[in-house]
Amino acid sequence: MIPENVLHTPISYLRGVGAQRAELLKTELGIYEYQDILNLFPNRYIDRTKFYKINELQNNNAEVQIIGKVVHLRTVESANQKGTRLVATFTDETGTIDLVWFKGVKWIRDTLKINEPYVIFGKLNFFANTFSMPHPEMDLLADFNKVGHSSIQPVYPSTEKLAKRGITNRVMRQLVHTVFEQVGNTFVENLPEKILTSLNLISKQEAVRSIHFPPNQELLTKATIRLKFEELFYIQVQLVRKNLLQKQKFLGQPFKKVGDTFMNFYNHHLPFPLTNAQKRVLKEIRADVGSNAQMNRLLQGDVGSGKTIVALMTMLLAVDNQCQACLMAPTEILANQHYQTISKLLEGTNVTVALLTGSSKTKERRILDEQLQSGELSILIGTHALLEDKVQFHNLGLAIIDEQHRFGVEQRAKLWRKNTIPPHILVMTATPIPRTLAMSVYGDLDVSIIDELPPGRKPIKTIHQYENYRAEVYEFIKKEIDKGRQAYVVYPLIEESEALDFKNLTEGYEYITASFPLPKYKVSMVHGKLKPAEKDAEMERFLRNETQIMVATTVIEVGVNVPNASVMVIESAERFGLSQLHQLRGRVGRGSEQSYCILLTGNKMGNDTRTRMETMVRTNDGFEIAEVDLKLRGPGDLMGTQQSGVLALKIADIVKDQDILKAARFQAIDLLKADPHLEQPQNKCVAHTLIQLQRYKNLWTYIS
Ligand code: ADP
Ligand code: MG
Repeated sequence: MIPENVLHTPISYLRGVGAQRAELLKTELGIYEYQDILNLFPNRYIDRTKFYKINELQNNNAEVQIIGKVVHLRTVESANQKGTRLVATFTDETGTIDLVWFKGVKWIRDTLKINEPYVIFGKLNFFANTFSMPHPEMDLLADFNKVGHSSIQPVYPSTEKLAKRGITNRVMRQLVHTVFEQVGNTFVENLPEKILTSLNLISKQEAVRSIHFPPNQELLTKATIRLKFEELFYIQVQLVRKNLLQKQKFLGQPFKKVGDTFMNFYNHHLPFPLTNAQKRVLKEIRADVGSNAQMNRLLQGDVGSGKTIVALMTMLLAVDNQCQACLMAPTEILANQHYQTISKLLEGTNVTVALLTGSSKTKERRILDEQLQSGELSILIGTHALLEDKVQFHNLGLAIIDEQHRFGVEQRAKLWRKNTIPPHILVMTATPIPRTLAMSVYGDLDVSIIDELPPGRKPIKTIHQYENYRAEVYEFIKKEIDKGRQAYVVYPLIEESEALDFKNLTEGYEYITASFPLPKYKVSMVHGKLKPAEKDAEMERFLRNETQIMVATTVIEVGVNVPNASVMVIESAERFGLSQLHQLRGRVGRGSEQSYCILLTGNKMGNDTRTRMETMVRTNDGFEIAEVDLKLRGPGDLMGTQQSGVLALKIADIVKDQDILKAARFQAIDLLKADPHLEQPQNKCVAHTLIQLQRYKNLWTYIS
């Protein structure tokens, strides 16, 4: 076993690295110590099995490798007087090319051997009918055939600054080589034997060596898989462990019984049979709240999948167990809508429910506060006004948060502190996150998924249309309005181009009011610059069908429910992300009528835009859309900067390595279930590695 401290030797001690290079490696690549170099995995590999003859060269900018001799050297003054360049005439038996140096000219001239066979490697320039190769990599053929030269050559991550200061890929390769000499061949295995055998993974030692010096493609592949697995496995171990520890540390109030309130509602007030997905999710939640541990569950379900009823029935479980429950929504409109829906569902039961928002009147609030503290009130629905300190519960057993993206961890924590025993927490989101991404980002939460829509829904028909067909689209809207329906027309409005976007919006509004004249048609407009009260008033008018068209920005994205609206037109659809388009589309298709979503774009579309439009037209499945979005945008962009740390992987790729990720999570759960404290001898290496990971945070800063 190598002593730990060799790997942790500061990089400046390495042969070939002085103070200056050490500083560069630190700032440019985050390399501090020996092991950081070994964890700098190549971006790609160059196949150096192929040798070209000069008469085979093509003008295609590829990297080529040639065997030949330098027969002549000359110095050329450059036209702009800025120094000289060195030009070597290089030949093989089929032709001649020029090798050119602009820097390090003296050193090259002194060391280059004339008429000795060399292997040269580099990119070609083609100019005035001749090939030249600037700054080739050169090895004497005699040296090239010696050890250390793999025909599959790694290319390491680099930066412009590194290249400029002479830390070329060749230098990096040399540094890696030197580190290997220093640390020897023995690496500590950090995966349990059982996992290695069951997944047929190669050892740590063989993997690290082969990733840097691949002897052949087969071992390179095996090394890559092993190291990807290791990386994902340790992220999962930490997430799963956090989840398990939380369950031990935070005891919840167990909702032991399913009582009269729940059963009465289920038997007499449920307006429709639950879907299988709803039933399954309720079972998962029941198992959580019925146990001694506090629940922390994420409920994902596409728009319209019926999360509200699940939320309500979970709250009834709380009531059956002498607890209060609250439901928090991100906007006043949504809180209001939840209150209306839930009050209606609870009609004829004796469950008490109230609404609390920023605009609740002082007098109402006083009564509400009293009822809340006495326990007389069972269910409280509201906005983040719920979080205020003066809102005090008698015994809050369950807190549900709708549309989780709008709320942060901080707010979740505030809810926790509302009760001596923290309430169970259920977070609901309508933004589907691909399963594998959820595993990585929310790996410490339990996740439930409603993946089935209530029966009888007519799938929304989605059409992509070019903007010059707008007149036809308006004709179509008129027909729908004649049938009694309503329509949304949505414009992009983003911060970066706010002024211009706002102009587009108002111009669009004017154009629409001209195309849909009074008195027959009435048009509403809602955007972020309106005061909340004005916005709400306008939404209310649309909701009551007093206006037939709602011109809006994405403020209507979340949750608004106007079942009579059957058309959604999205202007400049190319400017929206896939998830956002899908969210917007979810505003229609909420009634029994056939609904339509029309995506308008300019005539010129890039490949990404085309893919987005095609995906929207092809499917209504939010999870499928999320998968495509993940592939287009990458995980960092999809989740925002907030969680990008978790996604800053060194070798694995959440999109491409989904199978490895699943295996890693499965193995992590399996191992921790059997040995939660990592005490068994065969798992010592895991415990040990975790300590390491926490100690050397510079490597794994992304683990919270
Ligand atoms: P979301 O998941 O978007 O919050 P909602 O809870 O608002 O969805 O439900 C959307 C609509 O579907 C509501 O009108 C609701 O009454 C209805 N719904 C929910 N579950 C069912 C079901 N099992 N059968 C029929 N309709 C349902
Ligand atoms: Mg909802």
